[in-house]
Amino acid sequence: MKIVITESQYRKIINEEKTQIEFRSEFLNDVIVVVVFQDDPLYDKVKGFFDDYGFGFMVPGQNLIIIDGEILVDQPDAKNILKFIEAHEISHVLLGHDGPRNQKDELEADLGAYLLLQKRGYDEPIEMLLHHFKERHGVEFEESMLDDIENRLQ
Ligand SMILES: [Zn+2]
Repeated sequence: MKIVITESQYRKIINEEKTQIEFRSEFLNDVIVVVVFQDDPLYDKVKGFFDDYGFGFMVPGQNLIIIDGEILVDQPDAKNILKFIEAHEISHVLLGHDGPRNQKDELEADLGAYLLLQKRGYDEPIEMLLHHFKERHGVEFEESMLDDIENRLQ
């Protein structure tokens, strides 16, 4: 089942000071995405992983992605940021990245995210991805980079 929360639902959730949002990933049906905010008891336990891995990470062996909700608070485009992070983390899974993260894995996960987002018509998260591509990876985005990733995602 595809579960997508709308922007107004987000605002409601954030305003009601819920400390977690949970939904099934539309990119990989087996995976549950949990967005955790700092008032949640889980936050302190996972904060160290956010420091190491960035905005989110996959819990090994549990089909669970945990995302740092604090980076979404007060962001007008929170929905797009979250969709990008979800696609990026799912790409790590689909591309078989299971070691410590490195620059090559991060580049590949962004390219995978591009393809996953494109397939479902998410234009705004793609724009965001492209806008930050060079600062994240030190190279300009080129469509030819997608070919290898596209083969590996299938
Ligand atoms: Zn990553």
